Amino acid sequence: MKETNSDPHLAGLNVYRVGGAVRDALLGWPVYDNDWVVVGATPEAMRKRGFKPVGRDFPVFLHPETAEEYALARTERKSGHGYAGFDVHASPDVTLEEDLLRRDLTINAIAQRTDGELTDPFNGQGDIEQRVLRHISSAFSEDPLRVLRTARFLARYASLGFTIAPETLALMLQVSHSGELEHLAAERVWVETEKALGEPSPEVYFTTLERCDALNVWWPELVGEGLEKGLAALAQVPESGSMPVAHWRYAQLVSPLTTEQRDALAERLKLPNAVAQLARQAALTHALLTAEFDGPQVLRWLERLDGWRKPEQVEAQLALVKVLAPEQVGRLKSAWQAAQEVSPQVLIAEGYKGAALGEALRERRGQAVVAALK
Ligand code: ATP
Ligand code: MG
Repeated sequence: MKETNSDPHLAGLNVYRVGGAVRDALLGWPVYDNDWVVVGATPEAMRKRGFKPVGRDFPVFLHPETAEEYALARTERKSGHGYAGFDVHASPDVTLEEDLLRRDLTINAIAQRTDGELTDPFNGQGDIEQRVLRHISSAFSEDPLRVLRTARFLARYASLGFTIAPETLALMLQVSHSGELEHLAAERVWVETEKALGEPSPEVYFTTLERCDALNVWWPELVGEGLEKGLAALAQVPESGSMPVAHWRYAQLVSPLTTEQRDALAERLKLPNAVAQLARQAALTHALLTAEFDGPQVLRWLERLDGWRKPEQVEAQLALVKVLAPEQVGRLKSAWQAAQEVSPQVLIAEGYKGAALGEALRERRGQAVVAALK
């Protein structure tokens, strides 16, 4: 093997770049991080070289300087349900090809030596050329997360012309019908979903899951009409702002649902608070914009957004209004500004205190909003 690597931590190690980085470089897609596989080494040898072990379940290490992931070559066998239900076998005799065989899609199972040479036992390059997402073996169905991953990769590459191989789609259907999706941890489902929501074609993630009957376990509220309306809403999100686009898209996706449905989804997916809250607040904005609104409605909207304590939440919703109903932004902004200018200090100076102060504050803000909306 030609030694092109001058990194002393890697000297003499049999290292290959694998997975996403190799795939994306071949596709001409931006590469953000590298994953590496190390063949023929032991955990002790990795630690001696200064690599830091991560996670208890898998023999994965972080490079002491680049912090990139280096995994020892391993095989996996299903031994039960869910994440814990895998027997992981890592030892120096596991070959590169055996490690590649445990992966999900052919395009994700290409390895590249440091001198550039590719190892591609499942013709991932052919599938990259033909723009096909294809599973490697029937072991695909051992991890139901792969159904979501495949839908997510399609959400990323659909615009390049990718499709899912019919035999892979058939397997995805089979996994859905087996009930295995129920055994996924909510956190893993959300991680995939959040990533998919950040991809160029987020709608493709959901339509793909619908096609393989995978929506009803984790997103039953979206089955049928809910999905159509949700995806139409998802196409419109504020361009800039403090919130990630994936979170806006989620908020928009669930905006046509009822409050109960939205809360049920948030609970099932164990959504981070910030996401669940953005979804609730976007729903308030949708409700405000469905009909002509008056002063009391706008005041109520500002109150429910907790605007006095968290003005950034109102600013965020104003960014949404700008997309949904641009003609209303000006009025709502001036109403918000007028309400903010009502000063508690002035009322205190007038002699208000306690509950009466709260009431007076609310009344003046209401008046300010009404005046500004005119
Ligand atoms: P991304 O660009 O989203 O990071 P990726 O392909 O690098 O895509 P990772 O989750 O970083 O995805 O995983 C790295 C590689 O590990 C994958 O390319 C694939 O070979 C393998 N892999 C990851 N998760 C699974 C899984 N659940 N089942 C099978 N193989 C997997
Ligand atoms: Mg990766």
